[in-house]
Amino acid sequence: MHTTATQHLAANSVIWDAHACMPIRPNQDLSSLERYRQIGASFVSINVRMDFNPLSHIMRVIAGYRDWLARNSDRFVLARSVDDVLQARHAGKLAVAFDLEGSVMLENDLAMLALFRDLGVRQIHLAYNRNNSIAGGCHDVERGLTELGRAVVAEINAVGMLMDCSHSSKTTSMDIMEFSTKPVIFSHANVRALKDHPRNIDYEQIEACARTGGVIGLSGIGIFLGDDDIRVETLLRHVDYLAERVGCSHIGFGLDFSFLSGSGELPPGEKMEQWWPASYGYDFKNMSTMPPERLPDIAEAMDRAGYSGEDIKAILGGNFVRVARQTWTC
Ligand SMILES: [Zn+2]
Repeated sequence: MHTTATQHLAANSVIWDAHACMPIRPNQDLSSLERYRQIGASFVSINVRMDFNPLSHIMRVIAGYRDWLARNSDRFVLARSVDDVLQARHAGKLAVAFDLEGSVMLENDLAMLALFRDLGVRQIHLAYNRNNSIAGGCHDVERGLTELGRAVVAEINAVGMLMDCSHSSKTTSMDIMEFSTKPVIFSHANVRALKDHPRNIDYEQIEACARTGGVIGLSGIGIFLGDDDIRVETLLRHVDYLAERVGCSHIGFGLDFSFLSGSGELPPGEKMEQWWPASYGYDFKNMSTMPPERLPDIAEAMDRAGYSGEDIKAILGGNFVRVARQTWTC
């Protein structure tokens, strides 16, 4: 009975995955996106690279992804607005937008933000694990936003992108949540009280995010959920924690499923240890991540655990729809 009810619920919900990684070679085939469409997902944000990738490479990735989406417009849409997402859903298509992990690719130039927005980027965080000229990362010496970083936050608000604190240091995330005039998200992060990992966020960060009206997208990465644990019941413990402390209006999913092979395809000369210290459990050959097909199972688990239909709809995607409406102003 629960399964039928959940299937009905999932069919009537916007399912929003706030972060996924596709292969990043130029002229990349994105056929794997079909897996999201097959489970009835409405939207997925795909990564167009991070702080260690040269700008020229990022532009080639964006060009290739845009080209592939345009050539497959019978099933996929590059969404500019929430209305685009809802129209795509109505037409049985999957809406896609891009996200940037870090801010080095801005080359300290605020004008790059509007350009990336016009190319399809709808979500950005300011540091990827390491410190840069704009912000502090979560695997580096603790540091907040720089003066330039404050200007970047204001410009992200102005150009209409989601301000994301994933991969940032705690101080940087607290600075962003103080200075942003729009809701702030963690597109893919988990609860540090349940798994003590520097990529996870503590109660102070969770509460500050909720205070901005934002959403915490829980990741499906095993080493952030527990001891490389991707059981649905483990993810549900993270949902329960957030629901009890800040309520269901601030919970979503950014599973961070990686369609890449290995280490995220680090450019030559960059060292794994610098970006993903082994002491924090990074082992890309063996790490487990929940695939998108697990989303309906998560909905079913929330149903069994007694979450209301309205709350499940909000967590599956309604909350991200809300913050996107408040921030995407293209
Ligand atoms: Zn990430």
